[in-house]
Amino acid sequence: MAPITIIGSGLAGYTVARELRKLDKDIPLRIISRDHGGFYSKPMLSNALAGNKSAEQLLMKSAAQMAAELNAEILSNTGINAIDRQAHQLHGSAGVLAYSKLVLALGADPFTPELAGDAADEVLSVNDLDDYRRFRAALAGKHNITILGAGLIGCEFANDLLGQNLQIQLVDLAESPLSRLLPPAAGAYLQQQLEKQGVTFHLGSTTQHVQRHGNGYRLTLHNGVQFDTDLVLSAIGLRPRVTLAQQAGLAVQRGISVNRQLQTSDADIYALGDCAEVTGYLLPFVMPIMQAARALAATLAGNTTDVRYPAMPVAVKTPACPTTICPPPAGSIGQWQIEIQENGLKALCVDDTGKPLGFALMGSANAEKQLLATQMPAWLV
Ligand SMILES: Cc1cc2nc3c(=O)[nH]c(=O)nc-3n(C[C@H](O)[C@H](O)[C@H](O)COP(=O)(O)OP(=O)(O)OC[C@H]3O[C@@H](n4cnc5c(N)ncnc54)[C@H](O)[C@@H]3O)c2cc1C
Repeated sequence: MAPITIIGSGLAGYTVARELRKLDKDIPLRIISRDHGGFYSKPMLSNALAGNKSAEQLLMKSAAQMAAELNAEILSNTGINAIDRQAHQLHGSAGVLAYSKLVLALGADPFTPELAGDAADEVLSVNDLDDYRRFRAALAGKHNITILGAGLIGCEFANDLLGQNLQIQLVDLAESPLSRLLPPAAGAYLQQQLEKQGVTFHLGSTTQHVQRHGNGYRLTLHNGVQFDTDLVLSAIGLRPRVTLAQQAGLAVQRGISVNRQLQTSDADIYALGDCAEVTGYLLPFVMPIMQAARALAATLAGNTTDVRYPAMPVAVKTPACPTTICPPPAGSIGQWQIEIQENGLKALCVDDTGKPLGFALMGSANAEKQLLATQMPAWLV
């Protein structure tokens, strides 16, 4: 019998495999990855410099250890480039591989910023362990780093790099950091705390040119501001990997479209994690992936199960300003109420009846996170 096959050895792929093994120890299982296939915690990539961690230290288990633990065949360094849905076969660098059910856990690619200049292609990004290895090596001897994008990952890297005694510039089109998740007053509070530690913000503009200049680069922003830097890291967002699914004729919107059983438009193909759009939700975070993996494992083991999303707060790893964000459910309409505290800020989003929808807690206000989390409406009931 052809194995259940998972493409992707990130958090999504490995969590489905682990959850499936809790329910069925023997069903044939194959995991395919174009990377090393080892297990690591991706969220640690944006706070590992502070602990002086190398890529090797971040690798928690090798592909061989995962294969033994999961009683699965793991094909690492194996890229898949086509799905033959009729024949239930995959085509790729290991030849033709048959599957019974297929799980796409392909992740997402970093957005490439649209930049001019002779060094535009030297801008780095960190979205996996190999990227982190390159980035850490590139930091040697550098004093001044510029991060494009003051979202969650950009702010986390900024804070992490501060601990390396580096000067940090953060550039973002929005007028305050984490603008997609935080109301402006809360973004401004985070900005102040990072500025106190030495981060310089360039807000309200994006980078136009990256030119080689001496041993580093000269950046020109669209608003005409110019400054020099030793290294540029882009953290402007992620784009779900949809090409494989698209070429196989599966329904794709922003991500690979799946229903609440994580099933694509092909009954034998499922998707989850950063590549998947679950009934309109793109949630590239750990907790939603764990929820989806549990539901999908049950379905694969024969017990068709819908994914449910309770409210899932996200901790932003910025020790300069510890922050927890629980976004309001998609499509809900609310007003933010801001309470400034002596050493923190509480932002509560409420609907027109005063019912809480979401929150952002900073500094001392984090003391309320457990209590508030229980009061938030589920995202997908
Ligand atoms: C720096 C950083 C910090 C983060 N911090 C947090 C945090 O604090 N909290 C939080 O909740 N979330 C955080 N996230 C998000 C979270 O880590 C991701 O949502 C999650 O790890 C995504 O897992 P995934 O398995 O979907 O994708 P990935 O881990 O990217 O895995 C994709 C896998 O697919 C494989 N693959 C892709 N295409 C092919 C192909 N054609 N053939 C074979 N294999 C293929 C790849 O090799 C890889 O193994 C962070 C993300 C980053 C980048």
